[in-house]
Amino acid sequence: MERPFVFINSAMSADGKMSTKERKQVRISGQVDFERMDELRAGSDAVMVGIGTVLADDPSLTVKSSELREERTKAGKDENPARIIVDSKARTPVDADIFQKGKGERIVIVSESAPTDKVDLLKEQATIIVAGKEEVNLIKATSELKSLGIDRLMIEGGATLNWGMISSGLVDEIYTFVGNLIIGGMTAPTLTDGEGFTEEEIQKLKLIDSERMEEGVLLKWKVLANPDK
Ligand code: NAP
Repeated sequence: MERPFVFINSAMSADGKMSTKERKQVRISGQVDFERMDELRAGSDAVMVGIGTVLADDPSLTVKSSELREERTKAGKDENPARIIVDSKARTPVDADIFQKGKGERIVIVSESAPTDKVDLLKEQATIIVAGKEEVNLIKATSELKSLGIDRLMIEGGATLNWGMISSGLVDEIYTFVGNLIIGGMTAPTLTDGEGFTEEEIQKLKLIDSERMEEGVLLKWKVLANPDK
């Protein structure tokens, strides 16, 4: 099935955690990484998060630099890339910052099990895509996004969505900023949570680039095709 080029961008602590055991967002990287992330957003057709991230952090996912927003407008695009939430049960609050802040398209991907009354409320805020029975079928969903003209898709977490995308074989590259802090905690989200691979299923990566950035390091990985998938 045709799908967009998909990459994950995230920041994690030296011990691989994306936030604390209370699942509260923490500042892991500095201004340089923040600007790099903003450029990645501005260069994407869409950015995607899981409902867990929306409920925990309520991000707006807008492009913060006015220059980058202007560049997008000059190129005939919306100021912000389309903002997408993966949300099987339509739990996204109608007053979420993604709906409140910035211009541009919003898309909520739900499953067939989402309550109709909640989906109807979200329809007033966003385009709705239905993919999958109980939980969102990410393969179907990304193929649908491609048919809507989304060629470059940025995944901004969290841990469970990262797992869903990687384990479905839908990710081309992963960029991780590793910051100079230890968060700890068995239940704190890591770069990839979910069910986890068995030894035979482990996903292999190829290091494309590594760069010291402020007090941490930026790693760029290519996800290798897995012949067993
Ligand atoms: P998440 O990955 O944002 O969202 C996961 C949810 O997406 C699932 O629980 C599921 O909820 C829904 N979903 C629907 N279909 C799915 C599928 N096929 N595969 C996977 N998920 C699917 O939530 P999270 O794992 O709780 O992560 C949130 C945490 O990550 C927060 O603590 C946040 O601060 C942190 N975070 C950190 C960064 C960073 O870069 N450091 C970035 C983003 C988030 P339903 O069943 O209800 O649909």
